[in-house]
Amino acid sequence: MIVTRFAPSPTGHLHVGNLRTALHNWLLARSGGSGSATGRFLLRIDDTDAQRSREEYVEAIRQDLAWLGLQPDGEYRQSERMDLYEDAFEKLKEAGRVYPAYETAQELELKRKIALGRGLPPIYDRAALALSDEQRAAKEAEGIAPHWRFKLDHEEHIDWADGVRGPVKFDPSQLSDPVIRRADGSWLYMLPSVVDDMDMGVTDVLRGEDHVSNTAVQVQMFSALHEAGMGPDHCDVVDSFPRFGHTALLVGKEGKLSKRLGSLSCEALRERGIEPEAILSLLARLGTSQPVEPIADRQVLIETFDLETFGRAPAKFDDAELERLNTAIVHQMDYAEVQGRLPEGIDEAGWHAIRPNLSHVSEAAEWWRLVTGPIEQPEFSDEDRAFLGEAADALAWSDNPWGDLTTALKERTGRKGKPLFLPLRQALTGMDHGPDMGELLPLIGEDEARARLEHAAGQTPA
Ligand code: GLU
Repeated sequence: MIVTRFAPSPTGHLHVGNLRTALHNWLLARSGGSGSATGRFLLRIDDTDAQRSREEYVEAIRQDLAWLGLQPDGEYRQSERMDLYEDAFEKLKEAGRVYPAYETAQELELKRKIALGRGLPPIYDRAALALSDEQRAAKEAEGIAPHWRFKLDHEEHIDWADGVRGPVKFDPSQLSDPVIRRADGSWLYMLPSVVDDMDMGVTDVLRGEDHVSNTAVQVQMFSALHEAGMGPDHCDVVDSFPRFGHTALLVGKEGKLSKRLGSLSCEALRERGIEPEAILSLLARLGTSQPVEPIADRQVLIETFDLETFGRAPAKFDDAELERLNTAIVHQMDYAEVQGRLPEGIDEAGWHAIRPNLSHVSEAAEWWRLVTGPIEQPEFSDEDRAFLGEAADALAWSDNPWGDLTTALKERTGRKGKPLFLPLRQALTGMDHGPDMGELLPLIGEDEARARLEHAAGQTPA
């Protein structure tokens, strides 16, 4: 069984980048088997950073996922799981895989600069590991509380078969031992994530390629925790970590997305009238070799989801493409799906008539005003006024009033094409373009239609 997780930090609103990761994990879980063996998609709120995490964002994350229809099968919060991290930490400490370090941020920055100045990679020099017990005791006597680093095993190769990138290798001696715990006892992201992925039985970690170097050290954390006796018994060390996949980053048409993320939050898209299906259609296929199409049926997205089709090049997010998809999705939407969001009075026939003109469902009210009025007619020439007077006279009600009206007027006036249709449309709707008149006229109704034609003909006072 496939178990995936989406692990946002509640320090802001979800944006298209996060949504894409959530969707990939949801799709992977949903595509992972059927019946009782369906996969599980977990939501894990990474809220170890108490200072930056906000409850309002946790709530917004839940709402955004629900709105998109990416319901998790379980929810966890790291802030409620501190005992587990403490336990893992103690085990790693006993096993000699974590060590205290006392450098200040300034000292570390200086070391970095010196290394870079010498043309060396800025890898932590493990000075803290060389401290004797007395030296440590002296630091603590000075009141310096240590932060804690995970000790990478330089002899243990790091490699994994990445679901997107293929085989990935790292030389552990070229990596810094990561800081996993701050001097105040709070956790950095790295270790709790591994502890949780183990504890929750996560089989697949699918995330952005900005996490590749985190994965390198996390792979060693998985095996260190297993060796220290954590995790399910049946796992042997070789198989001790989940499958990893790192997707290429999402970029804007003109480069980085980071500056525009506010306007690309899930909330902003929702307020702009973008449909969940448009977002999912775009994000499911962006950066893959499969065509981006307006696919309202999630089952199709699930069945065609395939990591093998993901490319290594950055995926380009284009707002115009999202708008195009939205328009196409709106044109596919049934009355039953939108009923609750439409202004009162629009029935199924009304929705059907105006739907082809909408890019957003919210525009329905504007178009519906053509039916309910009041409309604003343009100035007509004397000739057109006479023609519209004929129209008022010729108007007769039937199953097909528009067809009958235009046929009768063709005969009476000899007009055809644009001179026939445009003044009628303008008189009946106040616009030069819009919904199919054959569908619209029955909705306007006989009396109102005649009144509009008579008004346009100058037969009634303004
Ligand atoms: N909280 C981390 C983030 O938002 C999670 C990364 C992960 O998926 O492991 O980047």
